[in-house]
Amino acid sequence: MSKWKDEIDGKRLRPESLMMTYGYRPEWSEGAAKSPIFQTSTFVFETAEQGKRFFEVALGKVEPEEGEKTGLIYSRLNNPDIEIAEDRLTLWDEAEDAALFISGMAAISTTLLTYLRPGDLLVASEPIYGGSHHLIEHILPEFGIEVLRFDCRATEAELETMIAAAEGEPGAFFIETPSNPTNDLIDVAMCARVAAKHRSGGRPVPLAVDNTFLGPLFCHPLQHGADIVLYSATKFIGGHSDLIAGAAVGSMEMIEPIRKLRTILGSHADPWTAWLIQRSLETLQLRMIRQQETAGRVADFLREHPKVDKVLYLGHLEAGHPQYELYKRQCLGPGSMIAFEVPGGEQAAYRFLNNLPLIKLAVSLGSTESLAEHPKTMTHSEASAEDCDAMGVTDGLVRLSIGVEHPDDLIQAIGKALKAV
Ligand SMILES: *Cc1c(COP(=O)(O)O)cnc(C)c1O
Repeated sequence: MSKWKDEIDGKRLRPESLMMTYGYRPEWSEGAAKSPIFQTSTFVFETAEQGKRFFEVALGKVEPEEGEKTGLIYSRLNNPDIEIAEDRLTLWDEAEDAALFISGMAAISTTLLTYLRPGDLLVASEPIYGGSHHLIEHILPEFGIEVLRFDCRATEAELETMIAAAEGEPGAFFIETPSNPTNDLIDVAMCARVAAKHRSGGRPVPLAVDNTFLGPLFCHPLQHGADIVLYSATKFIGGHSDLIAGAAVGSMEMIEPIRKLRTILGSHADPWTAWLIQRSLETLQLRMIRQQETAGRVADFLREHPKVDKVLYLGHLEAGHPQYELYKRQCLGPGSMIAFEVPGGEQAAYRFLNNLPLIKLAVSLGSTESLAEHPKTMTHSEASAEDCDAMGVTDGLVRLSIGVEHPDDLIQAIGKALKAV
């Protein structure tokens, strides 16, 4: 009997307590406290019969027995480091299953390709991450998939009317909340209700939610009716600006078909990346809580600053704001992403960025180090001028991702840069 259990006296341990042990036993690997990096492409079968059985289960030719997992065959199908990271990725979202990918875009594209077919309508929120935008606006239409976009202002009735007027029946819903860089929230429960109405003839029509900005700590879309939660694990989950990875999390029924397509597309994570994700998950909660606390202080400083016109930050939503009630219902905290506007357009924003000490001028987010960028000419430069206007991505808008530095140092750095504006 192993003493590495998920509970003590019948009381289930919390995710942060399980993150160092879940899915791995030291006795499996010479007592190693940390899982080794299983840097291997292939796995040796004990007997030919065992090899046959592993393939039968992997290919779905036989029903696996209670608790039987696909045996280790080849690292494009599975690998111990991937499996341990996947087990741990289920914990915060209280999900049955997870699939790890070599990038967030690999997770998103593999998921959408699993559930969409030519002639389908994809219902997607806007604005969304630039890579996702390119995939659904330029690549999926070439495969005969129609795309319908809606934003945070659409009511349930309006969304239904738009779907009824569009060509094709919905094959999947894909939303990103909060949106980047404006922090607009999309109502997960509302989308789940609409998606459910379009399920007929055995098609699952899943609602997939890109939870990169607040998850997995401060928003749990599965609890609001989502079917699949998607992550760029490059961001908070990886958290150190040193890897690219992604994940899809949900029920076994939803994730298994995605994992099967991952095997064929080869979009799985490598063992080293999977190992780094395990390392990162141990401190995920510490980092995200600290980053969130510091972001609150930075956002308050910006709000009071005479050279700042507007601060887009979830923690500043107040009763009466159209998104306040949704925020209270759907989010457990405001996270650590802030966008703010300086008067004077691009020139002023650039002066701020070029004079900013401590904080690195780079895209990406969710890392231990704070990062700043100019959405209009960087992360959102693919969007048209009209789309940028509609999204509120203005010339003077700067996006900040707050890291784990001392809050006073960050505030001093930002204050210094604002003097140059
Ligand atoms: C970064 C990001 C992605 C893409 O993830 P990669 O790991 O860069 O492939 C998708 N969605 C959101 C919200 C992101 O921030």
